[in-house]
Amino acid sequence: MKDEIAQLKALQAIDLEISALEEQLAAVDSELDQRRQTISDYQQEGEQLREKQSALQQRKQELETSLEEDLEKIRDRQAKMMNIQTNREYQSLLKESDDAKKANKEREDELLRIAEELEEIEKKITELDNLRSGEEKLLKEDTKKAEKRHIELTGSKEKIIKKRNTKVKNVPPAMLKKYDTLRERRNGLALAGVEAGVCRGCFMNIPPQLYNDLLKEEQLLLCPTCNRIMFPQAAEETEKA
Ligand SMILES: [Zn+2]
Repeated sequence: MKDEIAQLKALQAIDLEISALEEQLAAVDSELDQRRQTISDYQQEGEQLREKQSALQQRKQELETSLEEDLEKIRDRQAKMMNIQTNREYQSLLKESDDAKKANKEREDELLRIAEELEEIEKKITELDNLRSGEEKLLKEDTKKAEKRHIELTGSKEKIIKKRNTKVKNVPPAMLKKYDTLRERRNGLALAGVEAGVCRGCFMNIPPQLYNDLLKEEQLLLCPTCNRIMFPQAAEETEKA
């Protein structure tokens, strides 16, 4: 049984290495994803601002057209006032002219506000475009680095999987099945060392008789609490384990 446990321990070390490599691969991808997300956020924000910008520009155009029309109206009414017959007619033309002037004053105020807002929006758009192109440049660089890192990590992973495939041949099938099931259910750790009667997998005490049996290394024993395959672990092994 001692040999079999040793084989399983070696297998677990390999599997932990594989998991670590997989985590690193995922981290490389997640970094790129984050950068892509940032770019897309900037893009979206920029689009919203551009929509606002175009709405304001349209409003500006409308105001300018109306302003021009009313200026024309004012000129027309003032010309008519020159050769007027009655006071009533005069008052009516004067009112039309004054109304147009008042409307134009309001339009000018709004145009001023729009001009300020447009200036602000243009500034923000430029800022966002700069930020986005900076991120895009970084993404390009990071993608190159990530591709290289991917190749390295995948290479290491392939190598170690080959090693695992060789190791696995030495493990009896029933034991391997037990190991694989436990590994899946116990977060990658199927085996746990037991040091001074305490399981290092769950940090619970092992009953003394079971611990004695474990030290004999004659049979495959499971921790009564976490169900992991137990192996006796000397105190000096703890540092490494
Ligand atoms: Zn345990």
